Amino acid sequence: MKLFDSHCHIDDRAYDRDRKDVIENAKKADVCGIMIVAITEKSAHKAVQIANDYPQCFASVGIHPHDVKTCSENSLTVLAELSSHTKVKAWGETGLDFNRMFSPSKIQEKWFLRQLEIAEEKNLPIIFHERDSKGRFLEMIRSYDPDERKGVVHCFSGSKKELKGYLDLNYDIGITGILTLHKRGEYLRGLIDYIPKERVVIETDAPYLTPAPEKNNTRRNEPAFVRSTFMKLCEIREDDPEELSQTIWDNTCRLYEI
Ligand SMILES: [Zn+2]
Ligand SMILES: [Zn+2]
Repeated sequence: MKLFDSHCHIDDRAYDRDRKDVIENAKKADVCGIMIVAITEKSAHKAVQIANDYPQCFASVGIHPHDVKTCSENSLTVLAELSSHTKVKAWGETGLDFNRMFSPSKIQEKWFLRQLEIAEEKNLPIIFHERDSKGRFLEMIRSYDPDERKGVVHCFSGSKKELKGYLDLNYDIGITGILTLHKRGEYLRGLIDYIPKERVVIETDAPYLTPAPEKNNTRRNEPAFVRSTFMKLCEIREDDPEELSQTIWDNTCRLYEI
């Protein structure tokens, strides 16, 4: 079995002391692919550095909606240059987050749009982040929708209507460990049947969102734990793990052109 953690942040300083072991643990859990997703200019440099050191690791470059208040044309130029590195396979994470409002909504929209434009110039798939945008995110990706764009709505947490909107635009859907959580995952579990299996990818979003049962032992999530989310997905879909793991692996490689 081969699993791909399609979204994590192991460039985070939470792994500075044992990053090598964490990547080794992933291998032991059959996690043979890891996408390290940038959130700032600084994290993009670190993500690319790690991806350069490990054959199974890949990187994205981009500015998270939380962090766009410090974004500039200059930093996007730096990221665009960095994106030419052979291990950079996506642009992101970018999008809208109206839940915690670390950056004002108009600023988020401005830099989201700029990043969509640059990703298109660079011909890179996009890692989308959406939280509580009340339909605004969907509206923006609908109104700016080039024919060939590929992308994933990571940590999907939207409504059935939003899910349908993303699928109609041909985007993939990223499923995190929330799926395994008793109460918090209930709504998401109810939507799994509406996602065709050719459109699902799995992710940890580590160090956040530790799945059950690992949550009982540790706060810090890591790529190896994507296996728990995957097993939950097999259980809900009543799918054979060998078969579903191959489909999801293929989906992820198609998305990131790996
Ligand atoms: Zn995110
Ligand atoms: Zn993330």
